[in-house]
Amino acid sequence: MIIDGKAIAAKVRAEVAQAVRDIEARARVKPGLALIRVGNDPASEIYVRGKVKACQETGMAGFEHILPEQTTEAELLALVRKLNVDPHVHGVLVQLPLPRQIDPGAVLDLLAPQKDVDGFGPHNAGALVTGRKGLRPCTPLGILRLLDEAQTRLEGAQALVVGRSNIVGKPVAMLLLERHATVTIAHSRTAALAEQVARADVLVAAIGKAEIIRGDWIKPGATVVDVGMNRNAAGKLTGDVEFARASERARAITPVPGGVGPMTIAYLLSNTIQAARAQLGL
Ligand code: NDP
Repeated sequence: MIIDGKAIAAKVRAEVAQAVRDIEARARVKPGLALIRVGNDPASEIYVRGKVKACQETGMAGFEHILPEQTTEAELLALVRKLNVDPHVHGVLVQLPLPRQIDPGAVLDLLAPQKDVDGFGPHNAGALVTGRKGLRPCTPLGILRLLDEAQTRLEGAQALVVGRSNIVGKPVAMLLLERHATVTIAHSRTAALAEQVARADVLVAAIGKAEIIRGDWIKPGATVVDVGMNRNAAGKLTGDVEFARASERARAITPVPGGVGPMTIAYLLSNTIQAARAQLGL
């Protein structure tokens, strides 16, 4: 089975659009997401534009704040402080990376936990680890949804997450643990990665190195989610898993592009709904 992230993301967006109408009818306010971009990183420009467009398509309010490259940390913190108490704004996203003079930790520490729709701040990260309610990071939520849509048994399964970043690897491992998988986290110092992969019923690859996971390592019948987005010399996007050979052994697998990619924005919108409902007491 090829797991169709585009179709599943469209389903999530339709759920969000329905929730926007419901919230507007009950609370007479539109759910609102503020997006902050500092400087002109070309990838960030594309991401933020895509997020604003996605807000508009679901009927949500998207507030774009574009600040110059020389913005000081104090100036950015002042904007976050303002958005923290703005009643039209239910979610705030600060696009990373930030220019060198700004400490992203200081920004995440200040952001109101109930508006931290990326789930990267210390409050929500702590809530995830301790199993308390909170906003969970978007890409990991999207990955779990893909696994569920592909009817993957997680309870008791051997799950391998390759990558230990704060935005993908660690939180996805925590979500899998919450769902009672037996979770292993691999990284660049892991010895014998092939043997770890061969044991995995569920594999999540979040590395950022083209096709580093060979197709013939995959356990027959495994479910494979490839988070990697790597551009080769010809500009073609490939994942971290050697797709053609892996798909002959896997029970289900995500393609790149069209797998995890579309899920991240869909869950950013979904988190904004969750945040708006909580703030509006719905
Ligand atoms: P990071 O660079 O922060 O983390 C990469 C991880 O991979 C690190 O933990 C690193 O280990 C590990 N790693 C590197 N080389 C190897 C190796 N040879 N063997 C095993 N592990 C290795 O990346 P992110 O987590 O931010 O992103 C990972 C990938 O996912 C990227 O391609 C990114 O573009 C993509 N991505 C896609 C998203 C989407 O929406 N589809 C969203 C976010 C990311 P160590 O810690 O030891 O250095």
